[in-house]
Amino acid sequence: MRGTPDPAGRPDSPLLVDRFGRVATDLRVSLTDRCNLRCTYCMPAEGLDWLPKQELLTDDELARLIGIAVTRLGVKNIRFTGGEPLLRPNLERVIAATAALDPRPKISMTTNGVSLARRAADLVAAGLDRVNVSLDTLDPARFHALTRRDRLDDVFEGLAAARDAGLAPVKVNAVLMRGVNEDEAVPLLRYCLDNGYQLRFIEQMPLDPQHGWNRDDMVTAEEILAALRTAFTLTPEPGERGGAPAERWLVDGGPAVVGVIASVTRPFCAACDRTRLTADGQVRNCLFSQSETDLRALLRGGASDEDIADRWRANSWAKAAGHGINDAGFHQPDRPMSAIGG
Ligand code: SAM
Ligand code: SF4
Repeated sequence: MRGTPDPAGRPDSPLLVDRFGRVATDLRVSLTDRCNLRCTYCMPAEGLDWLPKQELLTDDELARLIGIAVTRLGVKNIRFTGGEPLLRPNLERVIAATAALDPRPKISMTTNGVSLARRAADLVAAGLDRVNVSLDTLDPARFHALTRRDRLDDVFEGLAAARDAGLAPVKVNAVLMRGVNEDEAVPLLRYCLDNGYQLRFIEQMPLDPQHGWNRDDMVTAEEILAALRTAFTLTPEPGERGGAPAERWLVDGGPAVVGVIASVTRPFCAACDRTRLTADGQVRNCLFSQSETDLRALLRGGASDEDIADRWRANSWAKAAGHGINDAGFHQPDRPMSAIGG
């Protein structure tokens, strides 16, 4: 059954292995479910029922779980996300605690960039290595309509500050939607090329709280590539893709690249190397999993680090082969993207 821990047959490995030979080494940590934007495909205008404060992991609890992941479970990469991670109080302290681990993991963050300009230098000083900034449009009126906030210039400034602070390569994530911003594939790529950012398009997934996702409205990887090819020459980037979700193309012969994350039309589940921790301390083995493992209860119940590590291992072992979006019986998970950690 999807997501049900079944330790039968699990090899005696300290790592986050699963029944399909995958090993999770990449941990996505959601720091908050709150956000200062209201992207139409992610949140309703009025926001969501935010998690109560007492259910959120404290900084110390977070540091302990990240430490367990890195020192006992073989996690090598930590990505902070949300909601909007820059809204987390003491973010720099959380990053510094992560950077102090031995072995030191690579530390990255996915952010809307709104308040990045004044934070970038401190984040780098704390130990942040890389950043992905979400930007779906270059047009101020469209940005306002899409995010319900008038903050496009702040995002531009945040991107420049990230680059100037040395968070290279600065990556830009864009979701294209039919009838909304599907005409911006080429302008977004030009903007990123001109500014030294690395653009990745992400196919829209059924993870919105309104359950309004519709396959026909999704702009597919094929469509995105066709649009880009009207203005650029794209050639597949040589080399191994590994667990990376983006298929990458050299633009006009390189060295610049553009990525497309085709989660729906070309799922990469077979190479997935991710595990996820929500802001309220639940481990999920997939964005789309129907069950979670409650590490917060273990932490607060006095469990040892090794007990917690074992429950995390069992959660990974139960990971399904794929997300199932294209299956007839697909059910969207109860939690929306912003509460899981995108
Ligand atoms: N607030 C931060 C941000 O926007 O970058 C981090 C969290 S946000 C949920 C992470 C990424 O998920 C963003 O790039 C956003 O565009 C993307 N996203 C949100 N809902 C999505 C969906 N239904 N399908 C695909 N991507 C989505
Ligand atoms: Fe906020 Fe990111 Fe969701 Fe937009 S996509 S509402 S910025 S969490």
